[in-house]
Amino acid sequence: MKILSFGSLNIDYTYQVEHIVRPGETISSQGLEIYPGGKGLNQSVAMARAGAKEVYHAGAVGEDGRWLVDLCRENGIHTEYILELPVRTGNAVIQVAESGENCILLFAGANRRNTPAYIRKVLSDFGPGDFLVLQNEINGLDVLMEEASRRGLFIILNPSPFNGAVTACPLEKTGLFLLNEIEGKELTGKTEPEEILAEIERKYPDSQAVLTLGSRGAVYAGKGERFRQAAFPVRAVDTTGAGDTFAGYFITALAEGQPVPSALAFAARGAAEAVTRKGAVPSIPYREALTGENVGNASAE
Ligand code: ADP
Repeated sequence: MKILSFGSLNIDYTYQVEHIVRPGETISSQGLEIYPGGKGLNQSVAMARAGAKEVYHAGAVGEDGRWLVDLCRENGIHTEYILELPVRTGNAVIQVAESGENCILLFAGANRRNTPAYIRKVLSDFGPGDFLVLQNEINGLDVLMEEASRRGLFIILNPSPFNGAVTACPLEKTGLFLLNEIEGKELTGKTEPEEILAEIERKYPDSQAVLTLGSRGAVYAGKGERFRQAAFPVRAVDTTGAGDTFAGYFITALAEGQPVPSALAFAARGAAEAVTRKGAVPSIPYREALTGENVGNASAE
């Protein structure tokens, strides 16, 4: 059983500034830090660190993104499907002000260079029982879902960031939705967690869903069942990457055949660890580093 993670690879340029630059203004920044990013890369790293052995990342970078491919490889992710194209790697220019406010400018670059031919070629190596993990930071999601469904892959979709490209997809082919409250609201038009899940069940009766609720935990709905998982109480330092860590850990547990309640607990344990550290990739824990018990506090209804 293999996991194909077809997703974004980004370089995040993070500038420390006194205040966020205003229209027409030029300011100097006080520092620059460069981080790996992209929800696709984050989730691949999270799966690998959670213990998944057969994670294949697909997507594209430019020459400036070779170090992201190296990073994937160093984490045990298979990189043979990643393309290097004569364009810039997807990137984000992030300003972080002294007040803590930030603003982010994205450039999709190589992340939006997927062609149907490339998608079909990659998917031709995968089949029934394999997982396809998707977020919405690349182009070609609709083709990916159609083709993966035709080949019998189990499709896991984190519809983030939510926009028209998501609604244009054949969403009924999703095996598992992983979403936070914002994405849940966008997908269903509902606001309360229970209403969101009920609407997903109504619209996509064959799909499962996990709705994450930040420090309030997560709820699973699917196959006529509901499981609730509390968040592990930790001192949160930076919640960046919490959702991606949760996703990677949850998917890995499912791939191992863990039942949903224990997969939820494993994911919450991993995500709780991630929020105690700064950054996205640097904060994603290794399975071996998880302390305490990682199963057992999901409750069925
Ligand atoms: P996203 O990062 O996509 O917005 P959430 O904020 O819903 O996702 O968080 C995902 C998961 O991370 C939650 O279900 C929870 O398990 C964990 N988590 C998030 N914030 C905290 C926190 N403050 N303390 C402990 N766990 C947290």
